[in-house]
Amino acid sequence: MIDYGFDSYRVSMSARPTIMKFGGTSVGDAQAIQIVADIVKSSLKSHPVVVVSAIAGFTNSLIASVDKAIAGDARAASRLLEPEFERHLAIAAELLRSERRAAFVSIAADARAKIRQLHKIIAGHPVTSPPLQDEIVAYGEHLSSQLITAVLCDRGVAALQVDARRCIKTDDNYGNATPQPETAAAVRSEVKSLIDARKVPVLGGFIGSTLGGITTRATTTLGRGGSDFTAAIVGAALDAREIQIWTDVDGMLSADPRVITSPRLIAQLSFAEAAELAYFGAKVLHPSTILPAVERNIPVRILNSWKPDGTGTLITAQNDGTSGARLTGLASKKDVTIIDITSTRMLMAYGFLRRVFEVFERFRTAVDMVTTSEVSVSVTVDDRRNLDAIVQALSDFSEVSIESELALLCAVGDSLQEAPEIAARVVSVLEEVPLKMISQAASRRNITVVLRQTDLPHAMQRLHEEFFA
Ligand code: ADP
Ligand code: ASP
Ligand code: MG
Repeated sequence: MIDYGFDSYRVSMSARPTIMKFGGTSVGDAQAIQIVADIVKSSLKSHPVVVVSAIAGFTNSLIASVDKAIAGDARAASRLLEPEFERHLAIAAELLRSERRAAFVSIAADARAKIRQLHKIIAGHPVTSPPLQDEIVAYGEHLSSQLITAVLCDRGVAALQVDARRCIKTDDNYGNATPQPETAAAVRSEVKSLIDARKVPVLGGFIGSTLGGITTRATTTLGRGGSDFTAAIVGAALDAREIQIWTDVDGMLSADPRVITSPRLIAQLSFAEAAELAYFGAKVLHPSTILPAVERNIPVRILNSWKPDGTGTLITAQNDGTSGARLTGLASKKDVTIIDITSTRMLMAYGFLRRVFEVFERFRTAVDMVTTSEVSVSVTVDDRRNLDAIVQALSDFSEVSIESELALLCAVGDSLQEAPEIAARVVSVLEEVPLKMISQAASRRNITVVLRQTDLPHAMQRLHEEFFA
């Protein structure tokens, strides 16, 4: 288990804060931000700590701009971001009164100038790009947290922007950094006194900084979708009463709404089920979000900022069984690759699997699913960045073949533990779909199959009709 330094810190019930995290589409334009401000304003009694994503689409543009700079065109990189700065300024013009608007215009101008400078450095020396990429990308959350703080203040809320880089202390794995044990104490020292003074702290999600001295500290990011993770870390550090993830759907749904037409709202599920659904593709929650909540047993609630009166999804230690459903939910991941590895020399020799997994460790590539037979092992990966190098390294001691354009479909439910016939039913419902791999995890909480990507919508629809109609 990763140590985030949460220890035994406790706060009396009446003073426990509520973490309210708003995703990109919840802060995508003036209307959305206005709604967010109303939601926060009506929750002041529950001591809100606000965590915000960059405005919708901005992180993608920032990353695309870095790619342009790496390719050598600093001007094109900076030009790409002009419409994004215009969007920020248009929101400020619509929502902020003159003084605060002027202050935000100057913050945005500073960001623009700084990013332009960074694009030039990267274009001149592309090798410097990993830490500089994070420095650029962090402006997404930096600007949204400044903007939302200003909007809240304009509406009479005593909000204060807190620099999340001073709170979330990470290693130096740029783009996908891991929080370190110093984080909990840093969060408390930056945020606790504000809550006690009845102020509303507003942090950018997703961003942190390496440990190290004031001059050697570098900005890092926690991986795409990482603002949920920030919310959970901050919640665990502050002994929050609840971690709320406000987004653009009603809650955790029984299947991916981008794949099937009418998934159902899951009213309640367990931490373990939510973690598996998130890991296997339910994008509504970053896969690391649940760990800090589990460690401190803090409920996580997913809510729709466009329908603030909805009940959403509640995630707690146990599935309370009230839904009566045999399965809890389905999730899927696309762009999955199978790597088949057959031992050449060391038929059945011990040490073969160790060597195989050492290769994946060396290239920092996560393996999702594994099946083995006597002399071969098949694994799936969705991160193809180091695929060629991995295949080459495996070929030193085995025969390797790969198959791409696959998808992984995962059925999750704590009930699978007591009712093994459900797993058999999952496979039989998919009988006419060619399955490349099947696996049931040791936890027996999920059954996962790998199939052709083109078969995914049909297969998910079939399973959904069978278990959720
Ligand atoms: P945010 O910007 O609020 O973090 P995300 O785009 O990261 O929002 O996550 C919300 C999206 O997750 C939804 O719009 C939906 O398309 C997608 N999604 C995928 N699987 C699920 C699921 N099982 N339940 C709910 N949403 C899901
Ligand atoms: N803005 C970041 C992203 O788009 C983090 C987040 O939204 O959670 O990945
Ligand atoms: Mg998200």
